[in-house]
Amino acid sequence: MTARLSFKHIAHQYDVQLALQDFSLDVAAGEVVCLLGPSGCGKTTTLRIAAGVERPSVGQVEIDGSVVAGSGVFVPPEKRGVGLMFQDYALFPHLTVLDNVKFGLHQHPKHEREPIALRALEGVGMTRYAQAFPSVLSGGEQQRVALARAMAPGPRIMLMDEPFSGLDNRLRDSVRDEALSLIDQSGASALLVTHDPEEAMRMADRIALLRKGKLVQVGTPQELYYHPVDVEAAAFFSDINRCGGTVSGGLITCPLGTFPAGDLADGTQVDVVLRPTAVELGRGGVGVPATVRRARLLGEESLIEIDVEGHEGLVHVRVKGTWLPAEGTSVRAAADPERALIFADGVLASNGSNPADIAAVNE
Ligand code: ADP
Ligand code: MG
Repeated sequence: MTARLSFKHIAHQYDVQLALQDFSLDVAAGEVVCLLGPSGCGKTTTLRIAAGVERPSVGQVEIDGSVVAGSGVFVPPEKRGVGLMFQDYALFPHLTVLDNVKFGLHQHPKHEREPIALRALEGVGMTRYAQAFPSVLSGGEQQRVALARAMAPGPRIMLMDEPFSGLDNRLRDSVRDEALSLIDQSGASALLVTHDPEEAMRMADRIALLRKGKLVQVGTPQELYYHPVDVEAAAFFSDINRCGGTVSGGLITCPLGTFPAGDLADGTQVDVVLRPTAVELGRGGVGVPATVRRARLLGEESLIEIDVEGHEGLVHVRVKGTWLPAEGTSVRAAADPERALIFADGVLASNGSNPADIAAVNE
């Protein structure tokens, strides 16, 4: 099957900055892919290249199997059938909400524009503001209108650059869910940029992790979370606890516990990475002895920072519910070997958990 949107070995050079290198990615029909990475890693550049507002220095972009950029071809943005929702792609202040949405419909015959625009506004629950000007709307309402404007022409591909980052938490969740369901209903594919791993996991069928202009890993949220390619990728999704160890007799021993070494040869130097939820705390029983330094309630979870002998820095543990032991409390910390991520030469070598197994458990 041809991909709806396809990047083939794209590189992009600004004056002095190489913003993207050998970037290849396919987005299938109806798929939502999130481009995730820290600020400056090349996310916006990728989206601008897909939209046609930037020409790639090297490589090719295809939409439904046809070249739209590269090999001497360049199809302008308005001919690509893409919808844009960019951070800095604000509504026109001097146009009403309805006219803002109609503006995106200049390819449609004049008499069709208003009914299509009204339907799009209905889709985001903004019909009653049709004659209002953007300045009277809240941030969330403005984003809803921007979404309606982008979706009204019925794009096959939605390109969204951190469209929810200006909204506060609660509002963000609802606008995000609304956007996702509209995209779903329309059958469009979406490439969504975010620097927020939780947003990516919430929205994406697949996540493409970028670092310094290079694609580091592409996969489902479960694959990236449970099988991060390297320590940095693991650290992008949560706080991590990390300790070094050496394989001996098929085992790795570090201050946080003893872990199976898989196929790694004796003598291999490894990093053991444990997410804060991969460590259990108890008053007694199994685990290494530790001392509580700080405990804080985060809402549904408690964050407990502990001192473990031989481990540099505090170990962060998250437990469900409220448990706030006093500073100085003696506890035992038991790391779940199934959830230990073992990296050799900086690359994931083994872990006990398999996303398929985890999915099966959750079914
Ligand atoms: P992101 O969206 O992930 O924050 P960008 O794609 O905006 O990253 O930028 C990638 C790199 O290219 C950064 O180093 C940025 O400074 C640089 N860059 C972006 N736009 C331009 C531009 N118009 N001219 C020169 N350099 C740019
Ligand atoms: Mg950006």
